[in-house]
Amino acid sequence: MQYQAYSINNFRKIPEVNRYLSKAQVGGIELVGNIFPFKVNNYIIEELINWDNVPDDPVFRLVFPQEEMLRPYHYQQLRHAIGTGLEAYLRYTVRDIRLQLNPHPAGQMDMNVPYFGDACLDGTQHKYDQTVLLFPAQGQSCHAYCSFCFRWPQFVGAKDMKFSAHGTQDVLQYLKHNKQVTDVLITGGDPMVMRSHILRAYIEPLLGEGLEHITTIRIGTKSLSFWPYRYVSDPDADDLIRLFDDIQRAGKHLSFMAHFNHPAEMKTAVVRTAIQRIRSTGAVIRTQAPLMRTINDEPKIWADLWKKQVNEGCVPYYMFVARDTGAQHHFGIPLTSAWSIYQKAVQRVSGIARTVRGPSMSAGPGKILVNGFLELEDQNAIVLSFLQGRNPDWVNRPFLAAYDEEAIWIDDLRPLPGRDEWFWSKEYNEMCVSSRYAVER
Ligand code: SF4
Repeated sequence: MQYQAYSINNFRKIPEVNRYLSKAQVGGIELVGNIFPFKVNNYIIEELINWDNVPDDPVFRLVFPQEEMLRPYHYQQLRHAIGTGLEAYLRYTVRDIRLQLNPHPAGQMDMNVPYFGDACLDGTQHKYDQTVLLFPAQGQSCHAYCSFCFRWPQFVGAKDMKFSAHGTQDVLQYLKHNKQVTDVLITGGDPMVMRSHILRAYIEPLLGEGLEHITTIRIGTKSLSFWPYRYVSDPDADDLIRLFDDIQRAGKHLSFMAHFNHPAEMKTAVVRTAIQRIRSTGAVIRTQAPLMRTINDEPKIWADLWKKQVNEGCVPYYMFVARDTGAQHHFGIPLTSAWSIYQKAVQRVSGIARTVRGPSMSAGPGKILVNGFLELEDQNAIVLSFLQGRNPDWVNRPFLAAYDEEAIWIDDLRPLPGRDEWFWSKEYNEMCVSSRYAVER
């Protein structure tokens, strides 16, 4: 299959759009597409979406913007700006709305970018001791965009909202000075949109001398779902598999962090072939996804997804919840419901699939896991703990929040009565000033 992408400018040319969507639905997509990035491709259109089930089809909702993604007042604001016919006013309104959508949650800009000498190390994040994230400039796009994307500022053309690394020279020096780092996560966007020789130019230097402490290369990607031909029939698919072989031969572990939201994304023969090719190199495919209202908010969906993944030799890894950015108000579900879905799903699968951890919030202080509920003498509580913390010593220490059936994020929760703050609040507030990782140049 030849890759053919569609954006907000040309999606009306898709035959299925004309056949199955009303004028009002097309207008809604166009309106929301002013704020959120939109891209879909022919594989998703032809192979993954069940058009007889649109607009409720989960893959359709996964990629096509929905009007409810805009809060009513933003919806009105945007309609008004479009109605004026003033291009500059529309641009101003779009930027204004985007800035209100928390484009960089969890302190990504202020706290995660490390210092190298007296400057920020562009295109990297370093939040937890062992793992550095690298955002190659050429990988800041995806084969299609998820409607709920938590990295949407990477795709809206605003340079000041974007992480992007040009080359690896400074990153390599930084890593050589940080011997506690064992994992480099190459992420985006989706690094698998890069041609193989470009990806090689980022990865090969990580295999060299002075970086023996880097034992794992991770690649965060949704390409297995959105464009599995990348590993099967793209012109440089074989080069890519050779690169994966070379990583293993250099004695490093390649961990392929694959993003799948729904079993429908695993139904084609080509995705199974792609998985086999990747696994044949010795790489381990770990799977992760957020739990999204209207897309995958049922236990059976998750149980089926994990079973399929295990059948293909993949390792279920994380169930996240909707992050506090973009259209979280539309896609997020209460943490109590998220836990129930996880708990009901996990009991349907064998121990082999119970490697999956969740539901987890990738929040400012760390990855916070919802462990369940407790009935105390005078009230109910939600039990939380850290899977990862800005202070490693926070990890695995249970802490309690007052039971709240509305809360969809850690900021919505409160400590139990009698406690003013979380055990980590004071330390975290002190950390909020800047990144805690810095090395001399
Ligand atoms: S694959 Fe990831 S980065 Fe790309 S659109 Fe989806 S959520 Fe965003």
